[in-house]
Amino acid sequence: MQYKTKSVASFVVAILSLVSPPISANAPFELMGKTTNTGHKTSYMANKKEVSLPVTVINGEKEGPVLLLTAGIHGDEYPSMFALQQLQQSINPKEMSGVLVVVHLANLDGFHEHRLALNPRDEKNLNREFPGSADGTPTEQIADLLTKEFISKADFLVDMHSGSANQSLLNHVYSPFIGDEALDELTLAFAKATGMQHIVLYGDRPKDPNNSISYPNTAMTRGKPGLTTEIGHLAQSKEEFVKDAFTVARNTMVFLDMLEGEPAEHPEPIIYETLKSAKSTTTGFFQPAVVIGDKVQQGQEVGTVLDYFGNQVETITAPISGTVMMVNQTPPIKSAESVVTIGVEVVQ
Ligand SMILES: [Zn+2]
Repeated sequence: MQYKTKSVASFVVAILSLVSPPISANAPFELMGKTTNTGHKTSYMANKKEVSLPVTVINGEKEGPVLLLTAGIHGDEYPSMFALQQLQQSINPKEMSGVLVVVHLANLDGFHEHRLALNPRDEKNLNREFPGSADGTPTEQIADLLTKEFISKADFLVDMHSGSANQSLLNHVYSPFIGDEALDELTLAFAKATGMQHIVLYGDRPKDPNNSISYPNTAMTRGKPGLTTEIGHLAQSKEEFVKDAFTVARNTMVFLDMLEGEPAEHPEPIIYETLKSAKSTTTGFFQPAVVIGDKVQQGQEVGTVLDYFGNQVETITAPISGTVMMVNQTPPIKSAESVVTIGVEVVQ
C-alpha cells in the first residue's frame, strides 16, 4: 500500500508490524459471523447477547488497511451517523482498497431514548467503560464487543462525535499520544489528514490496555491510531455538519489510499496542547458571555449564573488564556459542572 508521504509510510510499516498478523484485504473478511467477500459490501445487524449493532463492511477489490469508523458512541450525536450512512452508500467496493468497517450507531438504546451520552439500560457512558466485559452490563458488553471483535480486526479507528444537546463546540479532532513515538507521530499525521483545522493533543488516558477507559484509547493501547472527531453540535443534524463529517471520514480513507483523491490537510492547522474548563461553583441558570471560536484572556468573564429567582449569584471567568472550544449552551447548571472549555495552543 502507498501512503501520502514517505515519513508517514515508515510509521505505518512500523505500526503494522506491531499488530498481530495483518489481515489481507484480498481475503474474505469475517466479522461477527458474517463474511464479506472481496469486492462486496454487506450491511447487517451484528448481534451478541444483549448487544445489537448496525454494521456495514466494505471489502475492497484491492489490498489495503482495515479502517474502522464509528458513530453513535453517544446516542444524540447525529451528524456522523448520517455522514457514515452516506459514505457507505457512496462507495463502490470494486474501486476501493482495503476494508472499511462502519459501526453506524454504537449506542442504539441511547439513540432511541433521546439520551445525552448515557445508555438508559445501565446509565453508563460507553466511552468510559473500555475494554468492557462480556458478562457485564449492556454498556460493558458493547465495549467488550467493540474491543474484541472490531478493534482487534482494524488497523485504524476514527470515533466520530458531536456536541450533545446542551453543548456548542468548535469542530476539532483529538490526536492522542501514549508515549510510543512511532504510533504517536502516525496518529498525529492521521489527525492532520482529516483536514480539520483544530487538533487537540491528548495524553491523559491510561497506558494499560486492560484499563483503556475510552474507545480510541483502546485502539491506541493496542498499537493502532485512534482519533476522536467532534463535528456539529446541539444535537442538530444540519446539512453542513453532515457534510463536514462526511468529508472528514472520506479524507481518512484517502490518507490510507483506500480511495482515490488528494491529501486534504488543512493549510493552517492549529494544534492545542491542552484544554481547560471553567466551572460553575453555584447551581441555577447559566448564561454564556462568549461563543465558540472567541479568543479569551485569563480572568475574562465567560458567563454568569442566576439563581432560580433571577438574581446573579456568580460571574465565571476564564481559568487560562486561549480559544473557546466548547460552551454549555443551555441554562441548567449545577455546581462543579463545566460551562466553557478553552483550548491552549502549542507554543511554536
Ligand atoms: Zn460524544
